[in-house]
Amino acid sequence: MSLTLLLRRLSYQRSQTLLAAVSAHTGIVKQIKPVQIVRNNSKQAGVMSDKFSLPTRYGTGEKSVWVEYIQLNLEYKPAVNLGQGFPDYHAPDHVRKALADIAVGDNPLLNQYTRGFGHPRLVQNLSKIYSPLIGREIDPFNEILVSSGAYEALFSSILGHVDTGDEVIVIEPFFDCYDFMIRSAGGIPRFIPLTPKKTSGDITSADWVLDEKELEKMFNSRTKMIILNTPHNPLGKVFTQRELELIADLCKKHNVLCLSDEVYEWMVYEPNKHIRIATLPGMWERTITVGSAGKTFSVTGWKIGWAYGPANLMRNLQVVHQNCVYTCCTPVQEAVARSFDYELARINSPDCYLVALKRELLPKRDYLVKILKENGFKPTVPEAGYFIVADWTQLENKIDLSQEPDKYKDYRFTKKFAKEASLLGIPPSAFYSEDHKYLGENFARFCFIKKDENLEMTEKLMKQWNAKKK
Ligand code: PMP
Ligand code: GLN
Repeated sequence: MSLTLLLRRLSYQRSQTLLAAVSAHTGIVKQIKPVQIVRNNSKQAGVMSDKFSLPTRYGTGEKSVWVEYIQLNLEYKPAVNLGQGFPDYHAPDHVRKALADIAVGDNPLLNQYTRGFGHPRLVQNLSKIYSPLIGREIDPFNEILVSSGAYEALFSSILGHVDTGDEVIVIEPFFDCYDFMIRSAGGIPRFIPLTPKKTSGDITSADWVLDEKELEKMFNSRTKMIILNTPHNPLGKVFTQRELELIADLCKKHNVLCLSDEVYEWMVYEPNKHIRIATLPGMWERTITVGSAGKTFSVTGWKIGWAYGPANLMRNLQVVHQNCVYTCCTPVQEAVARSFDYELARINSPDCYLVALKRELLPKRDYLVKILKENGFKPTVPEAGYFIVADWTQLENKIDLSQEPDKYKDYRFTKKFAKEASLLGIPPSAFYSEDHKYLGENFARFCFIKKDENLEMTEKLMKQWNAKKK
């Protein structure tokens, strides 16, 4: 037993005596702080538990929707998991082979630490991909940061730029971690919802719009940042030139930074076009754009992402990254770099994965839209991405939610539906601030980057569920 452990086992008083005795002989334990034992029934137990409660900046520390629903997937074992966004089939062969080759290849250094701000081959390839799209030469070594998934690119951007009391405008529904990250940085999130301008007939994600006057009112001298997510999760909305111009003009007028989360950039369905807000006049200077290898190459488990923007803005991200993460997984970065090499060599071919993926996804989107419509849901047809948000309230009289304990109706619906139909979706109220959660309650989000056989199974199960309810 180590000396420290031994001391922990003894009462405070005895340990003090022991400490004195041992140090008198050896002098080596002087630095060991005596451990104060707090008994359960003592007043100090309360003090102890207060001391170790969650820091207030993290709020109540509820489980995120991902933690909860991944656990539910394990518990309920639904026949089809249409919840968390990931493909249930293989990424392209060349992508997987790249990683396999690297792990067993001749170069031992590819399994060791690499450059902290991004593996050279990867940042160079990211520059090759994005420079023509942005219309300027992006400096691979000063204007790009490779991160641990897009999550960390968001984290380093927010923690690197938001100061205590800064306001950050967040468009609802929003990818849930934005809120947490802003508060962790001491910032104040200010939420503005997208709302559907029509509620009957065929609805697409383009029908979900911002109130322009409301948006203008959100900007003030304390506004540090706006977070834009285009293409949008969960709606699949692709912000139009006009919408982006409005945001850009407000950013310039109020000297605000735009953090643009564009992880679904390669999944935009014709005729919609993804516009990078960094390409708008005067916006490169005030935009940090975020991407994800997980989404780009259908390898969400690889957890490599990136941020790019002007060097002076990127410097703040580097400060956070160098002290929190320092460097990301080398073989995976090298594999992503090689995957980009492969795609760069066929960039103008229809086989290039950066354009092939959306072709592969379109029939899946249309199929799931059809299934949902035929089974009583009112889906919002997404212009991009691989999620469909569908209004389930026409089914309300078919499903008894009264025994479900959750506060929000969409949580009750998705859980009960998973138990009855064996199909799991995500409750969109998770993508709203506390005051606006009601706006998400009538919906469920379903992911369609799934094998055709699993979409066929989805159709069968939805029909069976409906038949039982007649
Ligand atoms: N932003 C959005 C909008 C997302 O949907 C996700 C999930 N892919 C992320 C960021 C995080 O991406 P990653 O898995 O690369 O961390
Ligand atoms: N972005 C993915 C989704 O929206 C995964 C999120 C996560 O696992 N945290 O489903």
